[in-house]
Amino acid sequence: MELTVHTSGACRIIIERGCMDAAGGRAGELFKPGAKAVVIGDSNVLPLYGKRVLDSLKAAGFSASPFSFPAGEESKRLSSIEAMYAECAARGLTRSDFIVALGGGVTGDMAGFAAATFLRGIPFIQIPTTLLAQIDSSVGGKTGVDLPQGKNLVGAFHQPGLVLIDPDTLSTLLPRYFSDGMAEAVKYGCIKSRALFDMIVREEISQKIEELIFRCVDIKREVVERDEFDTGERMLLNFGHTFGHALEKLYGFKKLSHGEAVGIGMVMMAKCGENAGITKAGTTNEIIAALKKYNLPVKDEMPVNRILEATALDKKSSGGMISLIMLREIGESFVDRVSRGRLAELTGAL
Ligand code: NAD
Repeated sequence: MELTVHTSGACRIIIERGCMDAAGGRAGELFKPGAKAVVIGDSNVLPLYGKRVLDSLKAAGFSASPFSFPAGEESKRLSSIEAMYAECAARGLTRSDFIVALGGGVTGDMAGFAAATFLRGIPFIQIPTTLLAQIDSSVGGKTGVDLPQGKNLVGAFHQPGLVLIDPDTLSTLLPRYFSDGMAEAVKYGCIKSRALFDMIVREEISQKIEELIFRCVDIKREVVERDEFDTGERMLLNFGHTFGHALEKLYGFKKLSHGEAVGIGMVMMAKCGENAGITKAGTTNEIIAALKKYNLPVKDEMPVNRILEATALDKKSSGGMISLIMLREIGESFVDRVSRGRLAELTGAL
């Protein structure tokens, strides 16, 4: 399966079992033989898949070398980027060379940010290996790192030249991370597609994984093509994230994973919508059932007033107003710009 995202450039996305072994040939369609490539992966993924990607790149005539960093969100910081710059400089990369991001969202966001900024921008390729990265973070060109003050506070838009999605890599993923990705899949269904939502709820998803990835990426493609720089429709992709990010932050990014927090955030937002008569009755229960199927939590004991306080630094917040992503029903969403007072009102009955 294949699709192309047309933004500032065109980016081909290939979804195919075993396609990481063809990384060299695919890169050969974009870069000259002899070009240098630094393959960036974390300490879990590089030992699992690094050799296959490096061998394929070398067989295609590229001069490829690995760069590893410790796995985990704690690594997603500027000091890791500095180490990546040092490696790229030591290897003498120029703007005709490229970076390969091999791994989950942490790797993709960081390697992409290093590519966006080294020499004011060099090309990069994404080879995502978590479900979350395959259906979401590898597509659309958002790159960046966290600051002690919050997640993803520093970054750049930088589109990958190519995304190679190999669903076979999901076989080595821990179940918790698979569930994490499913929370984002539920989100896509909620905001844009009743049919996708029904597939997630009704089907044995491991039998439909390529179709799931394709449908999610296709939704992201459509949204990103219309709003590459996140000023309007792209905000819909943040359904559940306002409260989700707040929860992640309140727990110091330890108790809840991103997907778990977003799942709880989606339930909270749907409840707010139902209470206010904006969202069709019964929607919250449908979301709860979908999340439970993938072993995701649907509520948390954190007091609502603390969650509200923690939304103050939200990137969708400015001038005392915040952009909320609300559902009319499953498959239909919109951005509602509300005051903080209205937000408190909406959450009042939670
Ligand atoms: P991650 O990259 O940390 O990967 C999760 C864990 O799985 C890590 O321990 C990793 O080493 C391991 N792993 C990865 N692939 C594996 C495989 N195939 N087999 C075995 N282990 C494997 O986390 P993630 O959940 O993929 O991504 C989360 C990050 O993505 C967050 O930082 C979030 O901010 C970011 N994100 C970015 C965007 C975007 O548009 N850029 C969108 C959503 C999320």
